[in-house]
Amino acid sequence: MKNFKPIQKLILATHNEGKLREFRELLTPYIETIVSAGMLNLPEPEETGATFTENALLKAKSAASLSGVVALADDSGLCVSALGGNPGIYSARWAGPNKDFLQAMTQVNKELGDPPDRSAYFICVLALVWPDGRQEIFEGRIDGDIVWPPQGNKGHGYDPIFRPKGEGRRFAEMDDAEKSAISHRGIATRKLLNFLRQ
Ligand code: IMP
Repeated sequence: MKNFKPIQKLILATHNEGKLREFRELLTPYIETIVSAGMLNLPEPEETGATFTENALLKAKSAASLSGVVALADDSGLCVSALGGNPGIYSARWAGPNKDFLQAMTQVNKELGDPPDRSAYFICVLALVWPDGRQEIFEGRIDGDIVWPPQGNKGHGYDPIFRPKGEGRRFAEMDDAEKSAISHRGIATRKLLNFLRQ
């Protein structure tokens, strides 16, 4: 049972226009007004957390306290078992300032070598934070393997080297709808939408 008022206005804790568009499309049926931290020129907090949840929460808390409205933030990444979970929360940072994901994928492959265990997972954490401090977390995870060389030209980031368990294709060989039906982000987002529908 819902024990709080429906959300009328939400701030998305991002400076990324693409993320704003994507979330607006998903959330418009449930929330009247959606703005972003970028639109309000709010500062981007440094991602100093040790986990995806900590980073999502610190982005959402910062946006909620600066704007006074409910905030949503996401944090995601690729965790490779044989690399002790790396690149993990550093997934975006491994691509460097030029967001060069071929370089980041090459680094994963180089550090991985040729181990028997090539398992990895993508994770996405969504944090919803109210200005009074209340918070809800929604998490999605998809398990798979790292395969080399990169293949496929759809998707983004590490998609060309990630093959979901039980699939013959990499994420980068799937259409958006196919990917989001099974992806970490799709799972976390569906949990959020279920919560908003309650
Ligand atoms: P964030 O924007 O701080 O959550 O950074 C997430 C980073 O993780 C992205 O820059 C990508 O490197 C990686 N990542 C997260 N989700 C995916 C995905 O679905 N495909 C490929 N790479 C992803």
